[in-house]
Amino acid sequence: MNRFFRFAQHGVLIGVLFLVLSGCTTHKYAATNRVYKKQVRSFSKLLRTYPIKDSFTTATPWVGTTNFSIRRPSLVVIHHTAQTSCDQTLRTFTLPRTAVSSHYVICRDGTVHHMLNDLLRGHHAGVSKWGGATDLNSSSIGIEIDNDGSEPFSPDQISSLLNVLGYLKRAFNIPQANFVGHADIAPGRKVDPSRRFPWQELSKNGFGHWYDTVGVNVPEHFNALQALRIIGYNTANEKNAIQSYKIHFVPQDTTKVINDADRKILYSLLGKYQ
Ligand SMILES: [Zn+2]
Repeated sequence: MNRFFRFAQHGVLIGVLFLVLSGCTTHKYAATNRVYKKQVRSFSKLLRTYPIKDSFTTATPWVGTTNFSIRRPSLVVIHHTAQTSCDQTLRTFTLPRTAVSSHYVICRDGTVHHMLNDLLRGHHAGVSKWGGATDLNSSSIGIEIDNDGSEPFSPDQISSLLNVLGYLKRAFNIPQANFVGHADIAPGRKVDPSRRFPWQELSKNGFGHWYDTVGVNVPEHFNALQALRIIGYNTANEKNAIQSYKIHFVPQDTTKVINDADRKILYSLLGKYQ
């Protein structure tokens, strides 16, 4: 009997210890992580069905090719969160009703949260266009930087961002021209990352291009608006396209007018982006 009680006491102790330990190790986002895993599992299952259920079907039997690979991202879109803390953003991206997400969130202290497998489609770009490409969520990686839109970006953040960009560029062989801002791909609708974002520094590190107007002579027939379009901007609305270009390349200028300095800049950029 005594032995039984000792055994029972032991069991209770182990139970309490287990509860305490599991309480300590419970991840704040354990519940939404389970939702993430469940969704990834359902996509894996979908990939394994062939012919895939909602695909074009014919009466002929399925013949699977032996030559294929997985689709990969070819563009990186940088955002600022317009929120006041990383916690706020993590919460926004784990609430199903918001329907928004990004692959990475970079906090003010440089902490990087990876929230979505790079091969999966994030919901960060919205209605957007870059060059001839639309549905940029399908082809891009989204990076959100914790910043309220008016403050400077912290050196720790930029340093972490450069690390993430370096990894993405190597992993997916992303061309230097294909690192853009949300404002670049959604003129008139988005203005992030803000005018304080250090695009020139990024370009020096191989992410996006920058201009060099020293000794540049712009030919008389040069069409600045056409240059904007060739670089990638959606010029359907000229003023909006010019605004997005200025946010990225001439942040101190809040006008929506192309002047002589802009013509030089655009002529220089054209040589790099085309
Ligand atoms: Zn954005």
